[in-house]
Amino acid sequence: MSEMMETYIKEAENALLHTYNRYQIVLDKGDGVYLYDIDGKEYLDFVAGIAVFALGYNNKEYNDALKAQIDKVLHTSNYYYNVPAIEAAKKIKEVSGMDRVFFTNSGAEAIEGALKAARKYAFLKDGKTDHEIIAMNHSFHGRTFGALSVTGNPHYREAFGPMIGNIRFADLNDFESVLSQVNEKTCAIIMETVQGEGGIFPAEKEFLEQIRKLCDERDILLILDEIQCGMGRCGAMFAWQKYGVKPDIMTTAKALGCGVPVGAFLLNEKVAANSLVAGDHGTTYGGNPLACAAINKVLDLFKQDNIIENVNEVAPYLEERLNELVERYDFILFRRGMGLMQGLVFDRPVAEVINKALDKGLILINAGSDIIRFVPPLVITRKNVDDMISILDSCLGSL
Ligand SMILES: *Cc1c(COP(=O)(O)O)cnc(C)c1O
Repeated sequence: MSEMMETYIKEAENALLHTYNRYQIVLDKGDGVYLYDIDGKEYLDFVAGIAVFALGYNNKEYNDALKAQIDKVLHTSNYYYNVPAIEAAKKIKEVSGMDRVFFTNSGAEAIEGALKAARKYAFLKDGKTDHEIIAMNHSFHGRTFGALSVTGNPHYREAFGPMIGNIRFADLNDFESVLSQVNEKTCAIIMETVQGEGGIFPAEKEFLEQIRKLCDERDILLILDEIQCGMGRCGAMFAWQKYGVKPDIMTTAKALGCGVPVGAFLLNEKVAANSLVAGDHGTTYGGNPLACAAINKVLDLFKQDNIIENVNEVAPYLEERLNELVERYDFILFRRGMGLMQGLVFDRPVAEVINKALDKGLILINAGSDIIRFVPPLVITRKNVDDMISILDSCLGSL
């Protein structure tokens, strides 16, 4: 490491609140599926800013669209219409089949809005304010109080109580456990279609279908969090589209802006017409012209560059190559995941492997202490997969 990099890291640790144990590199720029640190060292990136940079770094068309918008206007206010937001809203309706959208600045805020919409929907039915929401163990929905309250990891919540009230937890893929938490106060069930931070657990089709049926029978709203698993990553624009189970409310963020901080919650007409109205919810920045210019270009490029087709072409190959590692090393227990959202489950902590890989120019990340998570840019090729596997393999051999 250069002296310059060392100095920057020291300065960072003196100024930034230490809420992350950061990897010891200072990143400078990106190009395609590669990142470069300030010493000029190249890294093959299988993290994509945690499932964000779907299109790869330094995409010229995307950059040009943002620059053009910067020269027009960056921000107005949600009290006025602007063309990028109108276009973005139309396009996201089209790809999701949902009916209404509210743009936010982040994933957590999208979750907050989704929870508020669900509570308001229930309130308008019976005038009560003690409705319950069922969330899943091992889920992750964000760090704000509402999102944290439905996050099924007690460790994240512990020091920050009290959480928002009336949340019950059930187990993913265990319908009986969900059923046992349902009562007349239940207004919503929230879950990730494929759990991300909690360890890359896809929902089972039958489970999701049972949940949908339950929600229909009891007029409970199904909220699917697609913030990590959505935007093409699992082989359809949104993972639920692969299951054929449509939510009443869904959230998206991460790859939606491909680097510009933006998220959204989307509602079907039933919920939209019977929940939030003028004055109920708002945001200063959410869906501003710059953010929406990003969404517009992202959704255009997904079509133009056949991003989802690429996911479906490369993902089976990634699975195959990861399966080989499972075969070869007995300390790797199994692979699980969907599309370009994969996890390798170890029988031990993976921090050492990730650090070794970083040394060798490969960026990986964990999901829980024993799982390596693979959430690369969606433009990766088979060759990138081979390169990744060969570096990873060389780190495993010495374990
Ligand atoms: C990242 C993530 C969030 C939180 O999004 P932020 O933009 O970090 O607030 C919520 N849900 C899921 C599934 C996520 O992966």
